[in-house]
Amino acid sequence: MKEVILCYQGEMALKGLNKATFEAALAKALRFRVRELGKFQVYKAQSTMYVEPRDEEAAANFDEAFRRVSQVFGLAALSRAAVCEKDFEAIKAAAESYLGETLRSLRTFKVEAKRSDKSFAMKSPEISRELGGFLLSKHPHLKVDVHHPDIVVMVEVRDYGAYIHGPKTPGPGGLPVGTSGRAVNMLSGGIDSPVAAWYMARRGLALHHIHFASPPYTSEAAKRKVQTLAQTISGYTGSCVLYVVPYTPPQEYIRDHAPDVLFTVLMRRSMMRIANRIAKEIDAKALVTGESLAQVASQTLMALACTDAAQDLPILRPLIGMDKTEIVEVARRIGTFETSILPYEDCCTIFTPPHPKTKPTLAEVEAAEAEMPGLAALEEQAAKAVERIRIDMRRSEEDEDGLLL
Ligand code: ATP
Ligand code: MG
Repeated sequence: MKEVILCYQGEMALKGLNKATFEAALAKALRFRVRELGKFQVYKAQSTMYVEPRDEEAAANFDEAFRRVSQVFGLAALSRAAVCEKDFEAIKAAAESYLGETLRSLRTFKVEAKRSDKSFAMKSPEISRELGGFLLSKHPHLKVDVHHPDIVVMVEVRDYGAYIHGPKTPGPGGLPVGTSGRAVNMLSGGIDSPVAAWYMARRGLALHHIHFASPPYTSEAAKRKVQTLAQTISGYTGSCVLYVVPYTPPQEYIRDHAPDVLFTVLMRRSMMRIANRIAKEIDAKALVTGESLAQVASQTLMALACTDAAQDLPILRPLIGMDKTEIVEVARRIGTFETSILPYEDCCTIFTPPHPKTKPTLAEVEAAEAEMPGLAALEEQAAKAVERIRIDMRRSEEDEDGLLL
């Protein structure tokens, strides 16, 4: 039985004149996601994208292809469907062979037909009725329940064939990655920042990550953990680069020259300035963080205002209004939680004073920076010494030219 993946567009279906650009980006993302799994053809008809296996390898990898496609932003829903000729006898046979086994274990069902190819002789209600009758004859234990069936058997008679499938799987929604431009995500090893990246990639941003490491205070294992996190979300974000900033010298300098209570906010401003430099070098138009209002002292309104004022790119904070429990829920769903809770140190948690100021003012922060004349040069050096680690969503060592947005 030949199977295809039907991909239904979400919000981008409403995009008017720009729709073609969004659809091209979606098709590109779908192709990249499956291309190492065999020969697949990705094409569009009537606003639906089809991902169709075209060789044995692709057919054998169909489960994995479906899993990967289900992570592609821009899809409201998807279904794996059996495809057959647009002939009612073929449709009956395909429905029985594709869903017969499932139907044996259920008690109620209904058939829903959609006929977008109006040249097909039977109308939708007739297809539903006739196919329902046929399936009942094959499975006499079943009952039709039009309100709350255990399964809805869908038949779609479309341009290129007839498609039979069970319930649609919800897609991740959003817009195809890259259609909103490019930004840099500040990736710590914590729970929040990978979730922030996921939310912004879902809005169509292509992301690279910046991580600040302070060896020997932070370890190689901590860095590898961040690499693993970037790899885990690359299924959603696409291939990217993880920039690792050697942050020890500026951080020690701040520790040695700043008033204790302002250490954290000064450090965060310093990190933002370095991130800003790197972002501009790669033409990224915003910074993304996992900050959430009042989660810690550096995330109060006044502290955030001080951080914002350190540099001139927009700082996107998709988690700003979320509770930790909600963030954790998403982290579990996207597969980052287990890695995030591994107990490695982060540069943000070293040297932190016991009582950081929760209401710093910009005037006092700038006054403290005026007492640190050596900081700018150290920040410049750190930005220049950045290490560039390629994160390939396909985890393939040999093939280096993936989707680098
Ligand atoms: P996370 O927020 O990822 O769970 P966290 O809560 O320990 O980690 P915070 O101290 O809340 O981190 O930092 C707030 C945000 O600052 C993070 O979400 C992340 O975007 C950024 N950040 C913190 N530490 C780093 C780092 N070492 N490198 C890059 N960005 C960082
Ligand atoms: Mg946090």
